[in-house]
Amino acid sequence: MWENEWGISQYPFVGGHEAIGTICRVGDQVKNLKIGQTVGVGWNIESCMHCQSCISGSQQMCNTIQPTIVNHHGGFANKLRAHWGWTIPIPEGVDLARLDH
Ligand SMILES: [Zn+2]
Repeated sequence: MWENEWGISQYPFVGGHEAIGTICRVGDQVKNLKIGQTVGVGWNIESCMHCQSCISGSQQMCNTIQPTIVNHHGGFANKLRAHWGWTIPIPEGVDLARLDH
């Protein structure tokens, strides 16, 4: 993505497609996440959540899928916006330094 090998990168480019952070805001409809909670995101951050793929558990096949670092700044940015359905709670007590690979 940094070197635009797929021809879809936009600049200025901010990478980071597997990121962990702390929630600073939540939308009105979010029930499972709260401000201050540690969470992670992977390759994707959003899908429609109402098509057949999304409601059958295959959200990664959604036609409106939004990859984390395509058309958005990724996890190396100061802030990242993600749909709650694509936001993964990190259990309390997990040593985040050990999650690095
Ligand atoms: Zn969908």
